[in-house]
Amino acid sequence: MQCIRCRRELDEGTVNCPYCGESQPPSKPQKEVKNPNAIAGFICSIWGSVALIILSLLTPIFGIPLVGISLSATGVKKADEYDGYGKNLAIAGIVIGCIGAIISLAIFSSRR
Ligand SMILES: [Zn+2]
Repeated sequence: MQCIRCRRELDEGTVNCPYCGESQPPSKPQKEVKNPNAIAGFICSIWGSVALIILSLLTPIFGIPLVGISLSATGVKKADEYDGYGKNLAIAGIVIGCIGAIISLAIFSSRR
């Protein structure tokens, strides 16, 4: 870290600069928190898409990718609380969920 005033190199976690005496702001705690909704939404979307493509050949179930999409949508909102962590994952989950829903719908409707 650098002193906010004199820009000299300081040890990590130094409270007061030994050169100029300037008090340093507390170092940002590293956020290790993961965004569970983004991950859950992403997994649910992938799993839902694959399962739905298979299931749509047998039985029409459209709920699974929709669960993934809504979980991913929650993940996008929550991602801002985690400094954007998982946002891309959640967006990918929405895209995959939508593709899965469209494909399964297309397969199902083509069988009518
Ligand atoms: Zn200093």
